[in-house]
Amino acid sequence: MNFRMTLAAVVACLAIAQLAGCGAEAPTQDTVEPLTDVAPRPEIYAGFALAADLGIYTDGQREMIALLIEASEIIDDLFWQQTWGPNPSQWLASIDDDDARLFAAQNYGPWDRLDRQRPFIEGAGAKPLGANLYPADMTREEFEFAYLPGKADRYSLVRRNARGELILVPYHVAYAQELKALAQLLRSAADLAESADFATYLKLRASALLSDNYQLSDLFWMDVKDNEIDIIIGPIETGEDRLFGYRGVYESVLVLKDLDWSARLAILADMLPELQAELPVPAEYKQQFPGSDADLNAYDVIYYAGSGNVGVKAMELSLPNDDQVQLQKGARRLLLRNAMRAKFETILEPVADVLIDDTQRQHVNFDAFFSIKMFHEVAHGLGVQDTINGKGTVRDALRDMASTVEEGKADALGLYMIRVLSEAGELDELDRQDCYVTALAAALHAIRDGAGGAQGMANVVRFNDFVDSGAFVRDPDSGRYRVDFERIEAAIEGLARRLLMLQGDGAYEEAVRLTSVRGVVSAQLRADLERVAEKNIPIDITFNQGLAYLGLE
Ligand SMILES: [Zn+2]
Repeated sequence: MNFRMTLAAVVACLAIAQLAGCGAEAPTQDTVEPLTDVAPRPEIYAGFALAADLGIYTDGQREMIALLIEASEIIDDLFWQQTWGPNPSQWLASIDDDDARLFAAQNYGPWDRLDRQRPFIEGAGAKPLGANLYPADMTREEFEFAYLPGKADRYSLVRRNARGELILVPYHVAYAQELKALAQLLRSAADLAESADFATYLKLRASALLSDNYQLSDLFWMDVKDNEIDIIIGPIETGEDRLFGYRGVYESVLVLKDLDWSARLAILADMLPELQAELPVPAEYKQQFPGSDADLNAYDVIYYAGSGNVGVKAMELSLPNDDQVQLQKGARRLLLRNAMRAKFETILEPVADVLIDDTQRQHVNFDAFFSIKMFHEVAHGLGVQDTINGKGTVRDALRDMASTVEEGKADALGLYMIRVLSEAGELDELDRQDCYVTALAAALHAIRDGAGGAQGMANVVRFNDFVDSGAFVRDPDSGRYRVDFERIEAAIEGLARRLLMLQGDGAYEEAVRLTSVRGVVSAQLRADLERVAEKNIPIDITFNQGLAYLGLE
């Protein structure tokens, strides 16, 4: 290989990586709703301040940020209405117990989002599957049999008319007053925007909020590249609708972009082919060229509102969700660096304190953690998209195994690339051993979190594979884990090769075999993770945020 770059520069090349969908964090499983009340437990969320130095921005830009926070506060209120009901502040004030009040604010209602939505306030009862998006007394059957053109629409409430019949009320009608104020704030912010494109986006978004037609603003957003300040705003995710998964709920995520990395992108745009050439597989498995229809950048979040601010907080976003926009423009991936750091410091490090061997604990650090995440994303853009034996696309051939294999490939190949670039002398700032031990800690943390979803399964498979090959070693006396630096690189290369070839071959049966043999958390590991549970380490983070944290008050 003939290139020279810093870690930050490598990270920049991510933007051209073609990204298969990374499993977002697995949602909490909603099984049958047990009606036993649980105790409020605000301590499961570690507080983290969304502070930033806005000194580099002009007065106008700071004023714009303040307006966008004001807009986000309206979004927060709309989400409350969608998930629970009106007048949340009045309701919160009526809760006597401090813990319960705080936990209710964190959960946007009286149900514990990280414990199967169980109620923690007496008399709350079960959370309606349709939240406040459908009438509470409506059954699934009634909705399915009702004549309601556009009933699967993302942007309407289901309500009853005076005769008790189901009707659809578009969001822009139901929330007309709030949305009018919101749109006005976005337009005022647009007047202050230094990027003309961002100003246009804000205006298009204001119109979208008032009409429930988001496609034009989504399309336009994909081409807005020169803005340092960005905002994701609108009814986007549909997870709150546990009844049908149709209806979007409002959220807002206000972010600051790292322009340094974006500027390096142009220089590094041609790096993916070189990385592709270095893949540890026979030539026929690396003849396809990585795509380039997605971009990836790192951001710091300065404000979360609405559905973005509940439960397990995202460390990355992939948008927009609109299939047609994705077909035309690809997707954009946002890595939320300060959210990652928050989780690293408050959750992953304490897990490492319990489970990583004393002699290697110093290798677990944030730079390594961030790099692993980054290279995982790059790795999604490498390998093959089509099988090499005429079985069609990898995704079609591997069916329900496709995501697990793809996530596993990205994990293993990401670590492999760190080695390749280090050996080429390109990653002086980054210690490979740090990356390997941090990857071990991250795997333990992820498995402790529950092996849900494709990413969870991929973690278990990799962990077991590396234990079997002697790359991850458990000390029987301390019950702690370490990396065998003599063996880890062969293990990484072996797993990366196996998964890359499995994809190229479209070997569905082998994927099933791999996950059934290696995808099981052993009793030994379960017992070790139990020691973490005893430490009461937070499960996720909650944000202290607003004007005061940004020096805007
Ligand atoms: Zn991924």
